[in-house]
Amino acid sequence: MSTFLPFSLEGVGVHTGDPCRASIAPATPGDGIVFVTTNGDIPAVANSIDPHSIRATNLTCGASKVGMVEHLLAALLWYGVNDARIDVEGPEIPILDGSALPWVNALANAGARPSPRFVKIDTEAEVAHGDSVARITPSQEPSVNIYLQYDGIDIGSRQMTFAPMVDDFVEILAPARTFAMESEVEQILASGLGRGGSLENALIIGESGPLNPGGFRFDNEPVRHKMLDVIGDLALLGGLPLARLEIVRPGHRIMHEIVRRAATRTAS
Ligand SMILES: [Zn+2]
Repeated sequence: MSTFLPFSLEGVGVHTGDPCRASIAPATPGDGIVFVTTNGDIPAVANSIDPHSIRATNLTCGASKVGMVEHLLAALLWYGVNDARIDVEGPEIPILDGSALPWVNALANAGARPSPRFVKIDTEAEVAHGDSVARITPSQEPSVNIYLQYDGIDIGSRQMTFAPMVDDFVEILAPARTFAMESEVEQILASGLGRGGSLENALIIGESGPLNPGGFRFDNEPVRHKMLDVIGDLALLGGLPLARLEIVRPGHRIMHEIVRRAATRTAS
């Protein structure tokens, strides 16, 4: 566990385009991570996953909702913040630069130090949804292996393994930004999402590479970001699972299903 001073970050919500702010303060050990909204509190647990989440992990509890929690939760997990009160203004957690780096920097400035928590998984589980498959198998040497499929578009390497006891989230995953294919943008906007999206907070990838002036931060930035999202969703288990995860075509839908299944099999 990590101690830290309260801090807040603000900016646009990527899906609503609304101004958003999240203010994070330490909470009593055992309280867990709780999002505090004007409509009520939302614990950051698997049961709070909004089944209607699209292109984000949204949480809901009673009448309260908060969108786009995954990058913040990934950073809190890595910094050993297991108990926190997160006051939310606006409908989403701000997208900032599209990565977890602003959260990591804020946590480090607030005095937190990396110390990820691990949780035991007692049996294996597998879920499939469309072309996506995820399998979780208990292991004392945890790792996450993901494989992306984007036909005909150069996104760098499509495969990545992250071993949280060996690899460094801060260096490897935190700076990787959220992304969308140029060909998807029209449909995303038509479905009412991405209203706050811009080249300032998302990679937009065309047939010949990113449209962003600076290009990729890493030649495999998309697969790194997918891994970041996976870690953020796993944070809803209360820690990184002591398990091997194999995920083909990871996305929030398949992650939400495997997290719900795994949540019934954690032994803390
Ligand atoms: Zn993301």
